Amino acid sequence: MVISARNLGQTYRSGGRTLTVLHDISLDVGAGEMMAIVGPSGSGKTTLLGLLAGLDRPATGSVHLLGQDLAALDEDGRAAFRAANVGFVFQAFQLIPTLTAVENVLVPLELAGALRSTSAADLRARASDLLGRVGLGDRIHHYPSQLSGGEQQRVALARAFAGRPKLLFADEPTGNLDAETGAVIIDLMMELNADAGTTLVLVTHDPGLAGRTNRILRLARGTIADGQG
Ligand code: ADP
Ligand code: MG
Repeated sequence: MVISARNLGQTYRSGGRTLTVLHDISLDVGAGEMMAIVGPSGSGKTTLLGLLAGLDRPATGSVHLLGQDLAALDEDGRAAFRAANVGFVFQAFQLIPTLTAVENVLVPLELAGALRSTSAADLRARASDLLGRVGLGDRIHHYPSQLSGGEQQRVALARAFAGRPKLLFADEPTGNLDAETGAVIIDLMMELNADAGTTLVLVTHDPGLAGRTNRILRLARGTIADGQG
């Protein structure tokens, strides 16, 4: 299994009270699978994604990614593990505004390149190539403010795939886009996913997007309501 979660729980402390936002989530995701997480706002989708991706630590339970127990790593260890294996796409794109498109794509490549000692010229060539694949070959020197929302999300997608991640997590990747632009992003995500055999986990409100994955996990009030596996 690429992802193995057991009895995951998460709590937040607020105003002296403890709020349980995720409770007893267990799931397995196999190599190359594409899973959508759906559910009402506040049901815990983003929290679950953060735990599965190793961005946050659970209050209870465990996550193994590619056989690695995330609890056995400290924060630096988790960061290095993510740099080598995990890509992210966020709803709000989260590009660095002071960097051009190609420089944004280079950020994770440089992290991964430092681990694999790839030359700077090779990294830049790969970043340009990725931007070409998402249709932005003629905009590699644009800053995020000079790009439309759909174009910014395409840069974010190129960035997410830059380090050749085995796992890609996306939190409402089409949430800020119109339907047509969203469909282009989904097509690209699936194309890149199929080419690289990447395991894909995405949160979405979009039934069209969820329907194109091979598995739907439904959350309700912090637990799995449907789609256990
Ligand atoms: P979803 O992505 O499904 O909309 P979230 O995972 O973002 O839901 O949030 C689940 C619940 O946890 C919500 O009720 C939210 O208010 C609460 N929550 C999320 N993050 C925090 C936090 N940092 N502190 C306190 N409560 C939080
Ligand atoms: Mg959310």
